[in-house]
Amino acid sequence: MSGGIFDMALKQLDDVAKKLNLDPNLHAVLRQPERELTVAIPVEMDDGHIEVFTGHRVQYSSVRGPCKGGVRYHQDVTLDEVKALAAWMTWKCAVVNIPYGGAKGGVRCDPFKMSKEEVRRLTRRYTVMIMPIIGGRRDIPAPDVNTGGETMGWMMDTVSMFEGRTVLEIVTGKPIELGGSLGRREATGRGVMVTTLELLKKKGCNLPETKVAVQGYGNVGSVAATLLYERGCKIMGVSDVTGGFYNPRGLNIRKINEYVKTSKNRLLEGYKEDGAESISNEDLLLLDVHVLVPAALENQITDKNASQIKAKFIAEGANGPTTPEADRILESKGVTVIPDVLANAGGVVCSYFEWVQDIQAYFWDVDQINESLDKIMVKSFDEVWAVSMERKVDMRTAAYMNGVTRVANAIKQRGIFP
Ligand code: NAD
Repeated sequence: MSGGIFDMALKQLDDVAKKLNLDPNLHAVLRQPERELTVAIPVEMDDGHIEVFTGHRVQYSSVRGPCKGGVRYHQDVTLDEVKALAAWMTWKCAVVNIPYGGAKGGVRCDPFKMSKEEVRRLTRRYTVMIMPIIGGRRDIPAPDVNTGGETMGWMMDTVSMFEGRTVLEIVTGKPIELGGSLGRREATGRGVMVTTLELLKKKGCNLPETKVAVQGYGNVGSVAATLLYERGCKIMGVSDVTGGFYNPRGLNIRKINEYVKTSKNRLLEGYKEDGAESISNEDLLLLDVHVLVPAALENQITDKNASQIKAKFIAEGANGPTTPEADRILESKGVTVIPDVLANAGGVVCSYFEWVQDIQAYFWDVDQINESLDKIMVKSFDEVWAVSMERKVDMRTAAYMNGVTRVANAIKQRGIFP
């Protein structure tokens, strides 16, 4: 397929390979996933008819360690998309230097049109179909779009039934009671906060004077906003799918968090605060702030709005919020972007901690988790920053250069089998 999302992933790889002067032999190895599996998933639906869904698991690279990546349930899932996402997981794990390769899984289905029991049967059958290639030391799935702790619990149980023992380390993102990790829910937002503070430090910014806008008030956005607020930043605007709020004096994030605890679907709609006014998602992105955190969807900052963005710094909580055309515009305006593979890597780092705890059957307290997470995020930020300065490239290119170099070096050091 040409012009698909995997072609975009390959184009990024090719550009970085050129910058790195990468050995064409290693480049050729990096351009292909190690293994692609497509499976048929027959599910007995509640009304008795059988529906056959298509699922995939792509292992892009296992050269630095077991493959790692989420499982997505969505009506638009394609093999092409799963391949691209698996490639990005490979670079992300290498950017933060955790001992994982990259993978991704997906099932083409619309879980919102299915009952919970149907989704459970789908999950169990999909798990069995990919069992020949997954494993705690081979490939460890995790949640992604429309999957979560419950799905991971079912996957873990399915594998455990076949193995005749409880296999905690087969997936991450599990509920705490099933071998999940403390701090996992907050980890991605925490990583966004840590990398943002590092950038502000480099730029000599004073926290109480730093104004922030956050798009998306879900898992990533709400935690990033809260942690930046607790460290003294002024959160000027937040938004979600229902729209947003702006307060020229800074929003009361504690009050917002109290509100969304009980609001319908934890949405911001209906929130009231003295001095706060409603704004659209489009306007939120254009607020006059120092830091913009897109933490909702992909393709939010495009060639249509990039030139109007006033923020000097962007921390990508979401995956792929900035298009390549927008990247070029932002760079020409002198905007610094902390790319998704670095800014939102806190989630996979904490998944790594979950896996380590499961294997050791010894669980850490939350302070140990946060301390270890912060350390990895700061180190990874510094490494990307150093390359960005030395090679005079933007942070996205620098992050890719670090990630791809690590994977390429591992291939070289292992040698090609046989
Ligand atoms: P979530 O579902 O908890 O939250 C998404 C938020 O975005 C919600 O507040 C939703 O209302 C809002 N939103 C949806 N459509 C919107 C729109 N059109 N305009 C504005 N806001 C909109 O999801 P999440 O886990 O916070 O993930 C957000 C992003 O971060 C995704 O791109 C995801 O891939 C990425 N990410 C998440 C994690 C993680 O650990 N959760 C890790 C890495 C990357």
